[in-house]
Amino acid sequence: MSKKQAAKIVMVSNRGSYNLQATPEGIKPVPAISGLVSAVEPFLREKGGVWVAWGGREAPQENSQGLRLAVPIDNAAYTFHEVPLTAGEINLYYHGFTNSALWPLCHYFLERCHYDAREWSTYARVNAKFAGAVLEEAAVGDIIWVNDYHLALVPAHLRHCQPQLKQFFFWHIPFPHHDLLATLPWAPHILRGLLGTDVLGFHLQAYVDNFLQAAARLLGARVDFEENIVYWEQRRIHVGAWPMGIDYRAFQRQAVEPSTRARAQELREQIGVERLALSVERLDYTKGILERLLAWERLLEEAPEWRGRVALVQIAVPSRTAVPAYRRLKEEVEAAVGRINGRFSDGSYRPVHYFWLGLPRQELVAYYLAADVMMVTPLRDGLNLVAKEYVASRCDNTGVLVLSRFAGASQELKGAVLVNPYDIDGMAMIFNTALGMGRAEQEKRLRLLQERVRRHDVHWWMNCFHQTMAAKKGEADDVSGSAGS
Ligand code: UDP
Repeated sequence: MSKKQAAKIVMVSNRGSYNLQATPEGIKPVPAISGLVSAVEPFLREKGGVWVAWGGREAPQENSQGLRLAVPIDNAAYTFHEVPLTAGEINLYYHGFTNSALWPLCHYFLERCHYDAREWSTYARVNAKFAGAVLEEAAVGDIIWVNDYHLALVPAHLRHCQPQLKQFFFWHIPFPHHDLLATLPWAPHILRGLLGTDVLGFHLQAYVDNFLQAAARLLGARVDFEENIVYWEQRRIHVGAWPMGIDYRAFQRQAVEPSTRARAQELREQIGVERLALSVERLDYTKGILERLLAWERLLEEAPEWRGRVALVQIAVPSRTAVPAYRRLKEEVEAAVGRINGRFSDGSYRPVHYFWLGLPRQELVAYYLAADVMMVTPLRDGLNLVAKEYVASRCDNTGVLVLSRFAGASQELKGAVLVNPYDIDGMAMIFNTALGMGRAEQEKRLRLLQERVRRHDVHWWMNCFHQTMAAKKGEADDVSGSAGS
């Protein structure tokens, strides 16, 4: 894994494939779970390369050295390069600028945005730190793949220090309309940072369009809206929409395992209702959990025939608990669950089963199998993988996916029952329809959904990346004087 070897991929993301945990025997890398890890890690295991990321622990000082580990420990295949962050950096860069400014801004929650110059300058410094770690690993010919809104300034740093590196950047959350982005005092810096890359990927064409408009209007960049190209500093930056896929076959395999099916059966018996609805997500205000609970309560008020016969399992995965807005939301969600259960519980019957925890893959798939209706109703979501995972896990072709029209995945998942999560009455009516949907209709819809999720799976997504970068490698770099629109 030295710099002299053949071209490799250097993955860069805030959290990577491992979290570093202190144990009495020393630091232990613990595998992390995320859509990105499932997508990219198998490739790194096969071909080698490097993953540059924060290991999730506090470094004692700003200039502390990060660990460089050969992973997996028992069968070394690639390098994990830790970017050490101090408690102050974690607070200002991660809880601060990324999660209290960029996250709410990109999800259209302007009233939740907190713009703070100290958080911004720490964000910029941490981005420079990540770029420095990449430069320690990368050689000309390698492909650098940077991920997400935490690291928007990394591409320009890399371009400045090592112009010949080939770079791909994927932005995993929505990209907002330029009017909204313009409220951020450092919006031009974010755009210039991103334009250091060669190729910029989003989940949806709508996000591509927003980015192109922002580059044109806020930076004055020359943009070809037909070809999705930005001309910037004598370079041509390709922008594209590649909605991320899941490992469809892995979910199907997990779903047909006898132990998973037995667990699903056990869950149904424990909850003991005719129709089971499920929601699974990080406890985040973008996910629309409170609104969904209100709609569930409305359903039980307006359609009393469902009382005692339906239950909602709400799995809320702990997330960003250091951010006050997330702690408040937890209290509000738990109060709503308590109120609904207080109103409609009867004997052993409970209308909402609430869990504040994250589930491992097998348990998650058992819940997907147990659920007649999956409710994915975010107020806004870049894509949403859970919706795709539910579809892939339903190997008996039944089940109903209720999906917010503001989830990016709704653009692809024809066959889902769409809802407006801001319309509580409307959502309650759709829950009613979904719970009562007949088998033939379920099968018709699910077949459509499965076809899409199977074809546009994670292998398709990785292929899009490889093909785009291969095309980019063959292209002349200097476009000075070329015509833009
Ligand atoms: N997930 C998990 N355990 C859980 C809940 C979710 O492993 O208890 C995984 C889920 O399989 C999915 C990811 O977390 O791959 C969530 O991705 P999604 O795009 O739905 O939402 P995000 O959390 O990225 O906003």
